[in-house]
Amino acid sequence: MTSSLSQELESRFIDLFSVAPQVVVRAPGRVNLIGEHTDYNDGFVFPCAIERSIWMAASPRSDGQVRAYALNFEQSSTFPLNAIEKTQNPDEAWSNYLRAIAAILQREGYTLTGVNVATYGTVPIGSGLSSSASMLVAGGLLLASAAGIDIDLKRLALLAQRAEIEFVGVNVGIMDQFISALGQRNHALFIDTRTLEYEAVPLPSEGVQIVIADTNKKRGLVDSEYNTRHSECEQAVATLKENLPSIIALRDVTIEEFERFAHTLPEVVRRRAKHVITENTRVLESIDALKSGKLSRFGELMNASHKSLKDDYEVSCVELDALVEASRSIDGVYGSRMTGAGFGGCTVSLVANSAVEDFKARVPALYKAATGLDTTIYVTKAEQGAERLR
Ligand code: ADP
Ligand code: MG
Repeated sequence: MTSSLSQELESRFIDLFSVAPQVVVRAPGRVNLIGEHTDYNDGFVFPCAIERSIWMAASPRSDGQVRAYALNFEQSSTFPLNAIEKTQNPDEAWSNYLRAIAAILQREGYTLTGVNVATYGTVPIGSGLSSSASMLVAGGLLLASAAGIDIDLKRLALLAQRAEIEFVGVNVGIMDQFISALGQRNHALFIDTRTLEYEAVPLPSEGVQIVIADTNKKRGLVDSEYNTRHSECEQAVATLKENLPSIIALRDVTIEEFERFAHTLPEVVRRRAKHVITENTRVLESIDALKSGKLSRFGELMNASHKSLKDDYEVSCVELDALVEASRSIDGVYGSRMTGAGFGGCTVSLVANSAVEDFKARVPALYKAATGLDTTIYVTKAEQGAERLR
């Protein structure tokens, strides 16, 4: 599927620009298996890249312009590299991701060249599988490659994160860009978001699948709620610091320390901190469970993560809860949880191979009965991160 889509993109590119692309890249979307809302608290996450990507093709131009075409929208957008501005035109909004990463690369001193660009993606858009991070990582790899720059993928991830913070205005952590850039086939990455050290942990190659289900609920408040959670975590750190002066982030607080000083925090902030601190320990435990083949334990930790996100962090919603409940009712589902920022988006479940058909056959009706909505199901293995294909 991958190679035929990139061939399709190349042939559309030739139709559009009457020249063959010199560079073709791909960057995948992602799903986080466990470790939610921990990445902006210097904590641990455990995502994998998914078998859905954004492909981009480019050929050089000598006039310093970027002429881009989005095949998903059949829309074009042009901007000059020497005066990049965010476009307000809704038809061209997708190009803001290219503009953002181009602007950040140049701000970092990279000399880019003008390019014709065509993009095509299979990452569901706005579903929480991070098509935005794929756009930024693919765009960065494309622009750098077209300019003859061999960019380190970890550095690219950090620049893509900055692009999303400075351009999109959401104070995101590093997880999405990092996994899109550095994911490994058949592995999830255990990432320490403070040090950016990471370990690729093999997922069972036989026997289980990652099943993603989309609530198809339009996410409304997610950006503002996200920023609110971010500042509640900062507030927790500021208060806990009075008793624990050496802490820098919630990552530094043990469960014992938290229990000792929880009473110093306002009730809501206390629950936010509790989620982050317990979630970090769940990530560590889940990796041990996976390494020793204890999939049932891994699933229990996924379920506990969902409960913590629902009750303490309060970023779930009736649709996510209904989908998780429907998923868990299928025999052979090890665990199921919301994934991503919340308030809609997707769930992720670890499902025995033998149960995948049953999941696909029964979960949609259960979910529809509970919410009136249709779900969309994506079965995936862990995919390789960003790569240059040509
Ligand atoms: P998510 O990251 O959860 O998928 P976002 O709202 O953060 O959702 O990002 C979605 C935006 O990313 C889209 O509105 C569009 O601007 C851009 N985008 C995603 N996929 C593509 C694509 N295939 N082509 C062009 N732009 C895309
Ligand atoms: Mg996004």
